[in-house]
Amino acid sequence: MPTKTGNSTQRCAMCGANETKATPLVQVFDGLSLCTDCINFIDQARDMQLKVKKAPAKKGSARKGLGIPKPKEINAFLDQYVIGQEEAKKYMSVAVYNHYKRIAQMEAAAEGQKSEDDDVDIEKSNIILVGPTGTGKTLLAKTIARLLDVPFTIVDATVLTEAGYVGEDIESLLTRLLQACDYDVERAQKGIVFIDEIDKIARKSDNPSITRDVSGEGVQQGLLKLLEGSTVLVPPNGGRKHPEQKMIPVDTKNILFICGGAFDGIERKIASRLNTHVVGYGHDETSRKRQRDNLMRYVMPQDLKSFGLIPEIIGRLPVLTSMESLDKKALRRILTEPKNAIIRQYQRLFEMDGVKLEFDDSALDTIVDKAIEYKLGARGLRSIVETVMVDAMYDVPSQPVDTFKVDSAYVLDKLDKAHFDKTAMTD
Ligand code: ADP
Repeated sequence: MPTKTGNSTQRCAMCGANETKATPLVQVFDGLSLCTDCINFIDQARDMQLKVKKAPAKKGSARKGLGIPKPKEINAFLDQYVIGQEEAKKYMSVAVYNHYKRIAQMEAAAEGQKSEDDDVDIEKSNIILVGPTGTGKTLLAKTIARLLDVPFTIVDATVLTEAGYVGEDIESLLTRLLQACDYDVERAQKGIVFIDEIDKIARKSDNPSITRDVSGEGVQQGLLKLLEGSTVLVPPNGGRKHPEQKMIPVDTKNILFICGGAFDGIERKIASRLNTHVVGYGHDETSRKRQRDNLMRYVMPQDLKSFGLIPEIIGRLPVLTSMESLDKKALRRILTEPKNAIIRQYQRLFEMDGVKLEFDDSALDTIVDKAIEYKLGARGLRSIVETVMVDAMYDVPSQPVDTFKVDSAYVLDKLDKAHFDKTAMTD
């Protein structure tokens, strides 16, 4: 917005410079003025974008018809990387498909191909994934972005605070997106932003009113502006905005926002809504986990509200789905089944030395058992395998072997020697 200083001098809405003879201000919209330097900058940026060729479709993206993969194709692609989470995958596939349909509709309208009587505007379908940490929320979002060949960024909601406090401005979320596509604003405007730990900016209802909730409701209000779809001025280098900085205007109306959060304790809100109660400490871990999963499946927008998200934010995240915590069977599959499964990665490393790496069933079971024992979940699988394999990766390249076999005894021995039980982070 045009800013008037105390002595009523006009300033550029983008860089904040005062009007001078050399750089006169031009009113671009009602009440919005830019200096000629900034206008030239925008023109140059647009010319550059026009020169950028559209990236070729990626292999496997099955672009046809509307030019985007269909929900079932998206799901099949996700299946190659994400184990389980069938419901979340289905919701994501549909939401992403609809999002791109919406973009197609807008592009058709811009090119004058939309028929006059087509007055149905498809609304934005931002997504919120609720589920325990390490269950594949980020992986799902990353995999979707890989398929669609659009700029993608992951940002952590915990670094955001209200303007004026230590932390980053909300707009800095978009800085990362711009950086992901070399500041190609046009591409960024169709990109995907994954906001992790959205639950950490929930309103803390038990906060006394005298202390400001700088990382809670204020941040949610700021975030709302981005989710709603508006043109925001983004600091090119992130962090805090300052008056001398040139800002990049980014329209967020076509950016897909996917939010993820563990929402620890939300099952109690769900339970009280459903009029049941959560099993207390007297019960064993498995039955508590099962109950948590079962309840999570019934998560509704009102539970997010009880948790502390403001209704306006919830309204802008219409696709709500949950992630299940991963059981032993799922962890076992994660080790070997995904296209870039951890075991396959190590086999490839050995293959490069001409060595065949084999894990027997007992080895895989032991790795999974340890991940469960130390409450490391899927995230822990990699550190366990790394610990187990480091000696072999050091020795084998200098040895005349063509096969290297790993069994349960080998796994236990290596973990024991590395004092894995002491170093494993249990949170
Ligand atoms: P979240 O975002 O839910 O905290 P992540 O997506 O970051 O969890 O998962 C951490 C890692 O664990 C992933 O990089 C992946 O290697 C593995 N992982 C987690 N869930 C799955 C899953 N459902 N399928 C395959 N791998 C998974």
